[in-house]
Amino acid sequence: MVVLKAASPPTVPSVNKINNGYPCSNGTIKPLITPSPSSFINLDQGDPEVFRSYWRKKSEECTVVINGEDLMSYLSDTSNVCWFMLPELREAIQRLHRVVGNASVGMDKHIVVGTGSTQLFQAALFALSPSDSPNPINVVAASPYYSEYQEEVEILRSGLYRWGGDAREYDKNEAYIEVVTAPNNPCGSIRRAVANCEGEGKVIHDFAYYWPQYTPITQQYDHDLMLFTFSKCTGHAGSRIGWAIVKDIEVARKMTRFIQMSSIGVSKESQIRVAKIIGVICDSYQKIGSSLDSDELFFEYSNRKMRERWEKLRAIVEKSNLFSLAKYPKAYCTFTNNTSESYPAFAWMKCKGGIEDCESFLRNLKVFVRGGKRFGVDQKYARVSLLSRDEMFNEFLTRISNITSDRKYKLN
Ligand code: PMP
Repeated sequence: MVVLKAASPPTVPSVNKINNGYPCSNGTIKPLITPSPSSFINLDQGDPEVFRSYWRKKSEECTVVINGEDLMSYLSDTSNVCWFMLPELREAIQRLHRVVGNASVGMDKHIVVGTGSTQLFQAALFALSPSDSPNPINVVAASPYYSEYQEEVEILRSGLYRWGGDAREYDKNEAYIEVVTAPNNPCGSIRRAVANCEGEGKVIHDFAYYWPQYTPITQQYDHDLMLFTFSKCTGHAGSRIGWAIVKDIEVARKMTRFIQMSSIGVSKESQIRVAKIIGVICDSYQKIGSSLDSDELFFEYSNRKMRERWEKLRAIVEKSNLFSLAKYPKAYCTFTNNTSESYPAFAWMKCKGGIEDCESFLRNLKVFVRGGKRFGVDQKYARVSLLSRDEMFNEFLTRISNITSDRKYKLN
């Protein structure tokens, strides 16, 4: 029997132990390393650790029990286009979108599950590329674009598709695929397709961050091909579950075929766990007469957490004369029924004054971030993850507030 928990090992460690570290799958506790002023801090990857304490409190509720004989078959639901997707996961995903109101999941939609939305992005490229064209189709995204798209497009040197660069500059009279990320990684802005050329365009909407903790939910999107990931929705990146909502059944079939060819489906253990956690979230919102306080509700908790981080960061950046941050317009959120700003998962920092290379400047402070070049723009910009553990985030704030007060770092 295997017991999976949201954030716990098979044996439940004592609260004291948990507070000093986090549980590993072998039952041991990985100690939490509190960064010292001389240690390196990695804010390069968007590893979502920020909501861990919420899930620690929900550990028991999120427990899934899997017996030895369970989940053995490759198959899940052969009546569905995505035959390896468990019906309980499909229903949980539909329920979550209905609760949040961020995407339409009516009867006319097909859901395809993938090993993270990374696999689904590649499946979507495969499905949208013409199979009978002598030349690869161009894949474009408006800069600054998510740094992995270009590498994912180029890694296999595919004959079906190739990287076409910045969508705003695309002027070929040829068919293309545009990737629209909204809110955008790295800069947090809400985006629409921008490529403006003669060729026929197909669009992949990457909605990894279109969840209420990061941005007001302003509308229920209904695009042809929308990607979502559990990694950024709840922070359970390790479960590697993403899903695509697809209008055209032939596109859904081709995406399913791609996943069949690359991994013959998606781990059912992960699917079960994700369905369970989504159920816990939705139950908390749909309990009639529930008197849960707002910190018990995941999106309220996570939105507060992101807002607090942004407020602290902005206060320090405003005092400094070294960086600037974008301002996000306020909007009415149909999920929270409040008007609020966006609190993106990443800070897109621009260095001011004489600093030409933001990534190197922060590296001198022993903070790893991702420089603008990886996102198709200049190196005055850098992306800083705001999804790290509190200790890392606070140490980052201390370091940047020290430079502004000491001015001990030389500007070049
Ligand atoms: N799209 C965007 C915009 C992302 O930021 C990420 C994760 N960093 C992904 C896709 C991939 O997510 P997953 O963990 O589901 O593969």
